[in-house]
Formats: sequence, structure tokens, C-alpha cells
Amino acid sequence: MSSTLTAVAVTGLLAFAVAAAAQNDKQWEIHDLNRPQPTAVNPGGPGKAPSDAVVLFDGKDLSKWKSSKTGAAPWKVENGYFEVVKGTGGIETTDAYGDGQLHIEWMAPSPAVGESQDRGNSGVFFGPYEVQVLDSYNSKTYPDGQAGALYGQYPPLVNASRAPGEWQTYDIIWHGPRFDASGTVTRKARVTLLHNGVVVQDNQELMGPTAHKARPPYKAHPEKLPIALQDHSHPVRFRNVWFRELPSEKR
Ligand code: MG
Repeated sequence: MSSTLTAVAVTGLLAFAVAAAAQNDKQWEIHDLNRPQPTAVNPGGPGKAPSDAVVLFDGKDLSKWKSSKTGAAPWKVENGYFEVVKGTGGIETTDAYGDGQLHIEWMAPSPAVGESQDRGNSGVFFGPYEVQVLDSYNSKTYPDGQAGALYGQYPPLVNASRAPGEWQTYDIIWHGPRFDASGTVTRKARVTLLHNGVVVQDNQELMGPTAHKARPPYKAHPEKLPIALQDHSHPVRFRNVWFRELPSEKR
């Protein structure tokens, strides 16, 4: 290719890239039929994941999970669910995930044993941030530690708990924090949580990582982190776990 032709090709490519970027940032006119069509997603049905979700547990095995300490996930799998095995430690996804939508179903042990935090306790973690799992049905504890709480920070807006022995759903919309090169937080994490279909956290901004009797400051970490589940010594069960990465907010 002659240098002139190369220059023309490069200029053409640049023009295309600039045009594509401009298209992305474009303020669309109302009802513009040229606006990109949203991707079609089969939403599935009860117990089924949407077609664009990563299925993290399909009722059969914990192959998408590992021990948070070392080795394979040591929890029990049976009858389409998995169950915490006391003393084995938490488990986490083998892959890391960023901003997205997590669906997870859980069941507290029945009959209920124990009180307050010592009753059907587990947790869903996005890195160091815990959405509390607890048997909060007719059971009192500190509100920022009950089911649907962002642990140690925000109680749920309402208590939408079902009785122990009944399956409950969490649909969590997670927007992780962002950090600049010096490690300073530039965008705090935000969580929306539907507990059994009821909004209990509405785009709530997190103060920082969650902790017991502490509110530590944000500490820089990658955008994508494993999703983890807690072993709090109670045989809490889980099923139908899936995650959808959120498409770009530009559209
Ligand atoms: Mg917990």
C-alpha cells in the first residue's frame, strides 16, 4: 500500500472511530427510530435465569465457587440447593464480577434455633461489602444487622422476611465504588435490594466496607471482585443464583 493510501486508510479509520464515539455520546431526538435497539433478553421464568445471565448455581454443583480459604467449595449440595457446612468457612465465586444484578434465593433453618444474630445468619458479599442474610421473621436484632441490612450501616426500609423454612429471594443491583490512582474513592458503592420482591434498599450509598462494630473507610480495590457467601455456623440454604453484568448506561 502506498503511503498516501495508508494515510487515507488511517484517516478513514480515525474518522470512523470519532463518528462512533460521537454516536455513543449523542443526545437522541425524541422517538428516533435510528436509536440502537436494546438487546433482546429472554427473561426466563420462576427459577430460571435470564438469557444474558451467568448462572452461578443451577441446582447441581458448586463448580463456579471455591472455598474462601483454599480448595473446592466445601458446602453440601442436595435436592437443588446448597447449604452452609458449619466451620468450613465462606465460599466465593471463582470469577470476579463488577456492576450488575445478582439474584439469589435463601432459606433460614426450620425450626428456628437461637436468637438475634445467632439465628439463620449468613451473608452475600461483593468484595468487603455485606448484604446481611438472617432469620428476621418475628426475631429482633440490631436493625442495621437484620435481613436486608447493609451490615452495620443501613437497616432495610421494611422487614419483608418470610418464615424460616420458606425460600426467600434477594435481587441486588450493585454499583461498586471507583478509586483514583492515589486510592481515593471517587464514587461510593450503591446498592438496591429487593427482598421477596419488596424494595428494602433504594440505591443506598455505602459508607465504606461493612464490618462488625466498625465502619472502616474505603480502601482501593479492583472494579471486579468475587461474590462471596458467609459461613456464620448456621445451615442456611441457597439456590437459583445468577448474575447479570449491567449493560452500559449510555443508550
Ligand atoms: Mg452475616
